[in-house]
Amino acid sequence: MKNLKCDVCHSDITTAINQRSYMHVAHRELCESCYEELNFFLRPIIRTKQPFNYEWFDRLVKDSVEKAITRGKWDIR
Ligand SMILES: [Zn+2]
Repeated sequence: MKNLKCDVCHSDITTAINQRSYMHVAHRELCESCYEELNFFLRPIIRTKQPFNYEWFDRLVKDSVEKAITRGKWDIR
């Protein structure tokens, strides 16, 4: 059992059972609720990107996570 803290909201993440309670994204640890926030934030942006580009997406995820860490919340725009 590992004790991790979410890089964005700093809440404790327990990984006792499986990896469903935390997500490893862009070399950061995110709790499940922050991961959902990330997806919620990214969804409308991804919809505007045609055609979809995986490198662009990677960078978007990383930048979004880093901004959220800096601000401590998902108010990214
Ligand atoms: Zn979190």
